[in-house]
Amino acid sequence: MPQINENFLKLEKNYLFINIAKKVNAYKAAHPEADIIRMGIGDVTLPIAKCVVEAMKKGADEMGVKETFKGYEDSGAGYYFLREAVSGYYKSFGVDVPAGDIRINDGAKADCGNIVDIFGNDNTVLITDPAYPVYVDTNRMCGRNVIFADSNEKNGFAAMPDDSVNCDLIYLCSPNNPTGSAYTYDQLKEWIAYAKKNNAVIIYDSAYEAFITDENVPRSIYAVEGAKEVAIEMCSLSKTAGFTGMRCGYTVVPSELVVKASDGSEVKLADLWGRRQGSKFNGVSYPVQCAAAAVFTEEGLKQTRENIEYYKNNAKIIGETLDELGIKYTGGKNSPYIWLKCPGNMGSWEFFDLLLEKINVVGTPGAGFGKNGEGWFRLTAFGDKDRTIEAMQRLKTLKF
Ligand code: PLP
Repeated sequence: MPQINENFLKLEKNYLFINIAKKVNAYKAAHPEADIIRMGIGDVTLPIAKCVVEAMKKGADEMGVKETFKGYEDSGAGYYFLREAVSGYYKSFGVDVPAGDIRINDGAKADCGNIVDIFGNDNTVLITDPAYPVYVDTNRMCGRNVIFADSNEKNGFAAMPDDSVNCDLIYLCSPNNPTGSAYTYDQLKEWIAYAKKNNAVIIYDSAYEAFITDENVPRSIYAVEGAKEVAIEMCSLSKTAGFTGMRCGYTVVPSELVVKASDGSEVKLADLWGRRQGSKFNGVSYPVQCAAAAVFTEEGLKQTRENIEYYKNNAKIIGETLDELGIKYTGGKNSPYIWLKCPGNMGSWEFFDLLLEKINVVGTPGAGFGKNGEGWFRLTAFGDKDRTIEAMQRLKTLKF
């Protein structure tokens, strides 16, 4: 009989969004006439830019012609044309990341989880709380010691390093899911200095970088000096270009990132990551990589920018309503997420039930993202503009 990985038995029984779906489905079954507005799951709703779809079609056509057909991609790291395009994208906001340090993936969620393979299980992992659940779950699946850095109202939901705490791996997400807060250059400098002092590695998730507008907030951790010696960065086209159903992202493991093995020898993390991917991953489909490369063309960036502006306008509508109602919140500025304090000291799930039952609006209870999320609630700006306006009008009818 096989032994199972019993760490799985210690996880939360269900992924947060499954719990939400269950509640919403039960409500719908009892109230089939209810017109529910979903502002919970962070999925995009606008179609992919036309030039990106055209590039995907062209890639698909090439697969049907003997001379241009493609089988396995040799490196599994992604076609060079796409890695170069990503490198050029970094350059467009002043960051130098060579194509050779970039590997293409089928979305950042997979790499956020897969990266655990290249680190030993005795590491202590520091995760900011609240957090995207994948970081906590995937480390607990391999039995690692997970500790938390509190992001809360006091620090503007931007946890900062504590010199009295030791750790080996640090997960940072900026702009943050769920809180919408974003680290400034100076704050990231502190994290980099802390990582260097602790010989720790930062795993930096920049999935929402395209939403940044503040000049003092970097689009990449590599915009900050010294980051290449301590940080791995993961990004995704899901929110940048509407790729949640296409599946494409990229991970950067800089060649400068070197750690010591137990025998004292120096090891490049990029080599371990390449070895891991070589054994377990055969790359992203060619038509999707063609589409991804089109995102980074002048026309692609222009068209995808229009979608981001649409979502940012929704965030503004939500923010203005919360201002009017005197409800505290973070996010919405450099992020599609608005993280609000539940009025009247309500708990997160209590507020969830209230919105679902009284105004048929679905959001995400902050408590599902960690202990500091209790009493807070996430709304997303990824919906339709008119429905967002309608949801905010309904919110105004509630008395808190
Ligand atoms: N990282 C964060 C912080 C996210 O919120 C998400 C998706 O919601 C992802 C990564 C995963 O994105 P992908 O669709 O590329 O797997």
